[in-house]
Amino acid sequence: MLEKLDQIQDEALHALQTISDEETLQSWRVTHTGRSSALMQVFSGLGKLSKEERPKVGQKANLVKIALETAFDERSKIVKQEALERSLEREHLDVTLPGRPVSKGRLHPATQTLRRILNILAEMGFQVFTSNELETDEYNFQFLNFPPDHPAREMQDSFYVEGNDRGDNPLLMRTHTSPGQIRAMRAAVATDPNNPPPIRIALPGMCFRYEQITARSEVQFNQVEGLAVGEKITFSDLKGTLSDFGRRMFGQDVRTRFRAQHFPFTEPSAEMDVECFVCGGKGCKVCKQAGWLEILGCGMVHPVVLQNGGYDPNLYTGFAFGMGIERQAMLRYKIEDIRYFWGNDIRFLEQF
Ligand SMILES: [Zn+2]
Repeated sequence: MLEKLDQIQDEALHALQTISDEETLQSWRVTHTGRSSALMQVFSGLGKLSKEERPKVGQKANLVKIALETAFDERSKIVKQEALERSLEREHLDVTLPGRPVSKGRLHPATQTLRRILNILAEMGFQVFTSNELETDEYNFQFLNFPPDHPAREMQDSFYVEGNDRGDNPLLMRTHTSPGQIRAMRAAVATDPNNPPPIRIALPGMCFRYEQITARSEVQFNQVEGLAVGEKITFSDLKGTLSDFGRRMFGQDVRTRFRAQHFPFTEPSAEMDVECFVCGGKGCKVCKQAGWLEILGCGMVHPVVLQNGGYDPNLYTGFAFGMGIERQAMLRYKIEDIRYFWGNDIRFLEQF
C-alpha cells in the first residue's frame, strides 16, 4: 500500500509538470485530489486495514496529499504568470506609434469671407458697427424711405414677431443691415447734435427674408454694408472707394463698371460689376457669358434717410453700399448652391 502511494504521487506530479493552462490544471485537481481520486480511495479504505498498517498508511497518505497540494499551488502560480506574460505579449502597446490626429475646427466659409471684406474695409478706414437682428418696421423700412405699401417691400418680406400690438410698427427680423445706418447716424448725432461728426462704418450681420429656399436664395444670409456721411461727399468718392475695394478684393488688374439701378434708400443708385475673374471677361458659365459679375448695390444716401438719421441733407451728403457675403463666397469658390452654407454638411465645410 505504501508503494502504491508513492506511485500515486509520482504519476500525479509527473502529469502536473506539463500543464500550462488553467483549465487543464483544474481538471488535474479533480483527477488527483478529488473525491473519486486514487488518493482519496486510500483514505476511505483505511478502516479495512490492520491496526499495524493503518497509522503508517494514514501518515503516508497525508504526506502525499500535502505534497500534491503544495505542487498544485506552485504550478498554479507558474501558469498564472505565464498567462499574464502571454497576454502582455499579445496586447503589446507600442508607445512610439503616432497619436490619432485631433480634428481642428475652422471658421465657416461665410465668416472667412466676411472677415476678409471687413479687413479690406478697415484698411480703407471703415469701422465695424454692429446692430440689432430684431428690428422695428420703422428702422427696417420706414426710416429708410420704404413707406407702408411701398412696392419695394414686396422684395423683402420678413419674419414677424407675434404677440405684440404695435400697430403699423411691428417687430420683425431685419431683412437687410441697413437699419444699422439709421442707428449709427443717430448714435453719432447724439454725441454732438449741433455739429455731428462724419461717419465711415461697415455694418455686418445676419439678415432674414421670408421666401422660398432655392439654390440662389435662403431665408438667412449675411450682408455687409458700408456707410460714409460727411460734408462734400460726392458720387466720385463712391466710385473711387468701390473701385478700390474691387481691386483689393479681386485683384489689382480687375476692371469694374457701374450700372444705374433703383433702391428706395439711395438716390442716385447703382450696381457695381467686376470683370469675371474666372474667364477674364471672355464669357463663361459663372458669369453666364456676360463677362461681368454683379458684386454689390450702392448709391448716394437719400436725403430722407439722412434726415431720419439726424443729418441735415442741405449740409451733409453720404454714400452707402451693400453686398451679400454668401454671394461673394459663391463667386470666389464657385459654389453653385447657397443651401450648402447652412446645411451643416461637414463634407462641404471641410473644404474651406
Ligand atoms: Zn466668366
